[in-house]
Amino acid sequence: MAADCLFCKILAGDVPSTPVLETERTFAFRDINPTAPTHVLVIPRDHIENAATVDPAHGEVLAEMLDTARQVAESDGVLDSGYRLVFNVGRDSGNTVPHLHLHVIGGRGLAWPPG
Ligand code: AMP
Ligand code: ZN
Repeated sequence: MAADCLFCKILAGDVPSTPVLETERTFAFRDINPTAPTHVLVIPRDHIENAATVDPAHGEVLAEMLDTARQVAESDGVLDSGYRLVFNVGRDSGNTVPHLHLHVIGGRGLAWPPG
């Protein structure tokens, strides 16, 4: 756990969240400010700062994050209609929380390219 990390605090239960799915290495919970009917964040239980600090040793947890995302899409009923997976990295992306998180967004038509 990293000191003063919001998502580490959510993992520890010190900050409330709306859980969707828990797996051995990952945790999925609803985004507090959803941009679509399905907007879930999938995070690793270990603190990884962002997608730019991922290295090959994180391969298993990354694969588990994608598997968790698919299960979330299935349980939210968007597996067939489709969903978008997003990692924001750095200022221009709007990244605000420095704990790796995969946005799972769906349940409506999503413009491409995004704004
Ligand atoms: P990003 O902009 O990629 O860093 O995404 C961070 C996301 O975390 C945003 O979509 C926020 O709405 C969401 N968020 C911030 N605080 C919380 C919280 N306490 N519980 C759930 N989601 C949160
Ligand atoms: Zn953290």
